[in-house]
Amino acid sequence: MKAKNFMDIHHLNCGTLHAFGFPRKDDTGGVFTRGPGVIHCLLVDTGAGLVLVDTGWGARDCTLPSPRVRQFARFVGCPLDVKETAIRQIESRGYAPAAVKHIFLTHLHLDHAGGLPDFPAATVHLLTDELEAGLHPRTLRERWAYLPEQRAHGPQWQPHQPHGARWLGLDCAPPVRIGDAEFVLIPFPGHTRGHCGVAVRAGERWLLHCGDAYGYHRQVDPVQTYRHPSGRLLEFLVTTGFKMPRRNRNRIRELLRTHGDAIQAFCAHDAREFEVCRMGFR
Ligand SMILES: [Zn+2]
Repeated sequence: MKAKNFMDIHHLNCGTLHAFGFPRKDDTGGVFTRGPGVIHCLLVDTGAGLVLVDTGWGARDCTLPSPRVRQFARFVGCPLDVKETAIRQIESRGYAPAAVKHIFLTHLHLDHAGGLPDFPAATVHLLTDELEAGLHPRTLRERWAYLPEQRAHGPQWQPHQPHGARWLGLDCAPPVRIGDAEFVLIPFPGHTRGHCGVAVRAGERWLLHCGDAYGYHRQVDPVQTYRHPSGRLLEFLVTTGFKMPRRNRNRIRELLRTHGDAIQAFCAHDAREFEVCRMGFR
């Protein structure tokens, strides 16, 4: 049953994936098999406007994809279905897209920030280092994964420094209150320069969107010993290739071990976590 909150939180899949190396539903998999994935975003009705946490693809990415979006979508087996975009899902829930006042981003990669142009009036919160990386990419990888057309409309950026407060023992940016809701950016750098988790207070508990700090739920399982279904080599390729440092996974696992009943954590692309979240708190 859906948890009863003083505000409404919707889990949106803003891009179904069917990607090589993703574990299948039965926790098997391999380098040459595809498994299901999602682009997990949050829509929060705060009572003082709507807030998105990550955006997934934008309408234009789906209807008129740039060569890079097309290339990436083919790689991860994403159909780029415009019905899955945040803007369409917001409309289908009876909200006006203009009601989206704030967007919090885990990072600016193309599959997380594509929806920015659909909400041009929203204030976009992210860590300072991530904005710097997006606006002034230094490496080939940064130049490839940050798309200028996704911010050509000139978003109202609200960069945050990743310190000045503590959240359950971790350094974080000072919390942002919007209506009945509270949002906290927790730095998990590695995947990108300014990558972070976004914690959203839901009553007495917290949802923690971990972005791409990990990619498979068992990587942060606080109880069971973890073995990647696709084998150590693939895990090494994925975590190293996608720059998912072990220290972030360890911090999240430790957080779940010590505060597990107060937090529901999930990453951006794990289909199983998405289904669990849609059913409400465990
Ligand atoms: Zn991603």
